Amino acid sequence: MSFDTDVIVAGAGPAGATAARRLARAGVRVLIVERFALPRQKPCGGGISTRVFSRFAYLADALAGIPHHPVSSLYLEGPSGDVFRMRSNGPAVVLIRRIEFDHLLTRLAVDAGAQVLAPAAIAQAADDGEAVTLTLRDGRQLRAPMVIAADGVNSVVARRLRMNAGWPAAHLALDMMEETPVARLRTSEPDTLSVFYGYGGAHGYAYVFPKREHVNVGIGYLLSYFRERVDEAPYTLQRRFVSDLRARGLMDGESQRDHFTPFLIPVGGPLKKTAQGRVLLAGDAGGFVNGFSAEGIYYAMVTGDLAAGALLAAREGRAMVPARACRGYVRAWRREIGAELRDSVLIQRYLFHSGPRMDRVVRGANARPEFSRLLVDYASGRLSYHAARRRLLWHFPRLLPRLTWLALRGERRSPAAAAPLTES
Ligand SMILES: Cc1cc2nc3c(=O)[nH]c(=O)nc-3n(C[C@H](O)[C@H](O)[C@H](O)COP(=O)(O)OP(=O)(O)OC[C@H]3O[C@@H](n4cnc5c(N)ncnc54)[C@H](O)[C@@H]3O)c2cc1C
Repeated sequence: MSFDTDVIVAGAGPAGATAARRLARAGVRVLIVERFALPRQKPCGGGISTRVFSRFAYLADALAGIPHHPVSSLYLEGPSGDVFRMRSNGPAVVLIRRIEFDHLLTRLAVDAGAQVLAPAAIAQAADDGEAVTLTLRDGRQLRAPMVIAADGVNSVVARRLRMNAGWPAAHLALDMMEETPVARLRTSEPDTLSVFYGYGGAHGYAYVFPKREHVNVGIGYLLSYFRERVDEAPYTLQRRFVSDLRARGLMDGESQRDHFTPFLIPVGGPLKKTAQGRVLLAGDAGGFVNGFSAEGIYYAMVTGDLAAGALLAAREGRAMVPARACRGYVRAWRREIGAELRDSVLIQRYLFHSGPRMDRVVRGANARPEFSRLLVDYASGRLSYHAARRRLLWHFPRLLPRLTWLALRGERRSPAAAAPLTES
């Protein structure tokens, strides 16, 4: 099957759509290959930190075309019931439904000139050094000089090309969530993002994310913990969480099983190989998710954008120099998000193993107002991660030796640390 394509983008999620838009705007012939018919739903809380608007300036206007809910109020509960409440000057998070948001991003890519082939599930991928061949489940074959694999946590492209031998269970979160219309399930605080750390055990979390006309309610665990320590079915846990919230007067209505979908999130940090031969991995396919907050949409968009940028910078005429693209991509993501992704995994390992530690953080956040300011400035994009980190360490100097120790331990386990700890 021929599309006369310079780049194939696998997957029409935030990573793929963002990459395709940037390439198409630069005049590159780009084809998005998506497994499902569009628009497609993706199980997700749909919370995006508002720094996305400073990173992707076009998004603010585009978002006006779909329902979205900016939120300035955060409720954090620790395992022992300690509560940290925070209200920011402006919104720190915007909540969207993925079925609408992802379709919007794909439409932007198509408006820029990208082509879409959907539904079309990729079953095989091979890189023969000259080009990449993708074989679809129905046997059709597509070929392109370069591929951006943005096909999510179960990326077929990453697995077939041996860039991902399979996630260890400790590098995945199992997130079990329902997205239910408010006619059936409502939160008592429709303008507040609520997170319950340590829910159902130190390795767990739960959340309530209010949308315009829906509410997302979910529970998550590291998959390793879930397999070893939790012997209840996902929906039993979900129903119990909803009835706990109802008993506390925080929720009204009934959980809806037909809106409930468990799904995996890669929370162990980026893969060792995120670029190889003629293929760049973006978004969940490369493990670009914050290990502590499980935020992935922002990083998917950033890595989609950086992958496209690396291909553009590696152009010689219409051709692209694959080795230059791979080097440029890895350098770019390490520079922009390497340190925060690395730190997020260290923080996850430090806090998710100990309820008392998590409690201390919640109590400490209450006692130190500068912590709230820092969090908001970072989430809203007023402070870069590097600047926020410097300020955090200045306010909480005892954190540095702990992070260093965790980083050293982590490096012994996995030498793929994304960036040196001293990076500023
Ligand atoms: C329950 C849950 C809650 C979450 N909540 C949040 C949140 O509130 N905020 C946040 O920022 N992140 C959240 N995340 C993480 C976030 O959803 C992901 O990090 C994000 O979707 C990654 O985007 P992506 O474009 O890399 O991949 P995806 O959004 O997964 O897109 C991949 C695309 O590739 C397609 N595809 C897959 N296989 C193939 C194939 N073989 N052939 C062709 N196409 C294929 C898929 O159909 C899909 O459209 C959550 C995740 C889960 C599971």
